[in-house]
Amino acid sequence: MKFNPSRYKEMEYRRCGVSGIKLPAISLGLWHNFGDVDDEKTYRKIIHTAFDAGITHFDLANNYGPPPGSAETNFGKILHSDLKKHRDELIISSKAGYTMWDGPYGDWGSKKYLVASLDQSLRRMQLDYVDIFYHHRPDPETPLEETMTALDLIVRQGKALYAGISNYPEKEAAKAFKILKKLGTPCLIHQPKYSMFERWVEGGLLDLLEKEGVGCIPFSPLAQGLLSNKYLKGIPKNSRAAKKHGFLQKSAITPEKLEQIKALNELAEKRGQSLAQMALAWLLKDKRITSVLVGASSSDQLLDSLKCLQHKNFSRDELLHIEQILNS
Ligand code: NDP
Repeated sequence: MKFNPSRYKEMEYRRCGVSGIKLPAISLGLWHNFGDVDDEKTYRKIIHTAFDAGITHFDLANNYGPPPGSAETNFGKILHSDLKKHRDELIISSKAGYTMWDGPYGDWGSKKYLVASLDQSLRRMQLDYVDIFYHHRPDPETPLEETMTALDLIVRQGKALYAGISNYPEKEAAKAFKILKKLGTPCLIHQPKYSMFERWVEGGLLDLLEKEGVGCIPFSPLAQGLLSNKYLKGIPKNSRAAKKHGFLQKSAITPEKLEQIKALNELAEKRGQSLAQMALAWLLKDKRITSVLVGASSSDQLLDSLKCLQHKNFSRDELLHIEQILNS
């Protein structure tokens, strides 16, 4: 397969914390739209479009599908058939932390679970190693030392090159960073939920990440599609909110949210971009954000989102206006 030879000139790459790694400003997540329930032709095209545009980072997890595991299997197939010779140009991540198999060892944060789960992910993707392996969510019962020691072990075994954490609140993240540093495997990156509609990270986590030299890759930057014009005239067929297995609940699309979306959409139009582009640009204006982790159900959506890079600056008035809308 031939890919766009100028793809690396067209994308912006940002350093991940104080590490040696740079990530594309836009990364692609395979949580939805890459499972066995989805159309292979469509998701293959999304992966091609991403790589062609200079997206070097693909984010997976053990449980992505449905069924769980199928996104890794499907990604592995495409990687081996179409992108095999480009493996060293890619940053592939996986995670464990949510329910994956029955019994006491298929969930949360034990060493037993993390090690076995990564072995399964590697088999599904037909890989020798992933570039980043995350603990997917904090485990209130397993000692943090055990979970972090498992990440360190996995990196020392060469099954992952870097360690990351996801969904950790500031306090737990600070403890995890300390343990990992002591073990000699500094945390590369934190993956929190962050968008115009979900701003908990601004309460201290972003400052911590900057202080500790850890990168930040927000997930669901479009609030699963809410931050676009697609729900302004009802719930379209095939949208995430319409799908049985979609995680976006219809109940999240309230009249108040729709009013905010409408006002944001008008502002985006004035800026000459789509609301999805404005929502991504709004995150990328902060230098502490290494990359935004988007999802897409079509290659056209991904191409639309990528255009956010053409207009990332906001005037003070625009930023104030956004705050007014979000507080209304
Ligand atoms: P987004 O907020 O980017 O939502 C993606 C959805 O938004 C698409 O499926 C599509 O909806 C819609 N969309 C995308 N682009 C456009 C566009 N340009 N115009 C209009 N609509 C658009 O992210 P996700 O919620 O998909 O999350 C992204 C990634 O983050 C995941 O794939 C995963 O890798 C990671 N993640 C990590 C989690 C964690 O706990 N660590 C949890 C959740 C996600 P539609 O399908 O309706 O067309």
